[in-house]
Amino acid sequence: MTILASGSKGNATVIAAGSTRLLVDAGMSCRELMKRMALVGEDPRSLDAILITHEHVDHVAGLSVLARRLKIPVFFTEATHQAWKRMLTPRTTMTYTQWVEKVQRQKQESARPAEDAARAEELQASVRERPSLASLPCVEYFRAGQSFSVGEIDVNPFTIPHDAADPCGFVFHARHESIRMAIATDLGYVPSNVKMALRGVDALLLESNHDLEMLKDGPYPWSVKQRVLSRVGHLSNAAAAEFLEHDYDGGAHTIVLGHLSEQNNLPALASLAAEQAIGRRMSMPEPRVLLASQHSPLAPITL
Ligand SMILES: [Zn+2]
Ligand SMILES: [Zn+2]
Repeated sequence: MTILASGSKGNATVIAAGSTRLLVDAGMSCRELMKRMALVGEDPRSLDAILITHEHVDHVAGLSVLARRLKIPVFFTEATHQAWKRMLTPRTTMTYTQWVEKVQRQKQESARPAEDAARAEELQASVRERPSLASLPCVEYFRAGQSFSVGEIDVNPFTIPHDAADPCGFVFHARHESIRMAIATDLGYVPSNVKMALRGVDALLLESNHDLEMLKDGPYPWSVKQRVLSRVGHLSNAAAAEFLEHDYDGGAHTIVLGHLSEQNNLPALASLAAEQAIGRRMSMPEPRVLLASQHSPLAPITL
């Protein structure tokens, strides 16, 4: 597992097992994703597929350009794919003035001589042929709760509570090595299906988004604070710690805290909360706790 970026300005993680390489989320520009892969010695051309957790821009910003450049399939749920396409389609509603202008322009165009019309037709055809932002080389649908495979990796997507069309976390199982890794970020709380899904994982990327006090006293407008705090918002340090103390089975070798807010959290607060929670369980051996960053990739976690 190589976390290229984690946070509200962009998310992307490479999961590799055997000869299979998956990119989970493409939430930065194609150029930045390529740059970060090069920094950790990953060749973008070796990626087999891109998997998308949900359609928020910090998870899909570079998706269409990257998928088209690499000509690899993109795995979504159908609802996430539709929501992503809607997001990219410009609004077609016009004001009355815009409509009048359009009608007049069309009248003028139809009054022109034939050769002008032919030229206009040619121009329109070239516009039509240009691929739309939402066009992808290949799309595959999955459903939360139904496992699927890409190469040597079995993927178990699970529903997470978050304000997107059909958001998912993933558990990845390296088929020939019986190693499991999971990604659970962008969730308002940890419901029982997520607790179940995260049992028996060897490495876990877990959201530790905000410190409750910093968020409450911080600069966000009240409406945004409400959204972050809600059951479909983001997981606080305290909620992540609560999970680690009471609901997590203690088997992971590595826990990476991710999607940290730059406004409403401090890396030291997030790791302190998690380490104290793990310490209170008093189970041996304790997992190591790492922090994923927004600004630079984390060294690959190899198991
Ligand atoms: Zn996010
Ligand atoms: Zn999100």
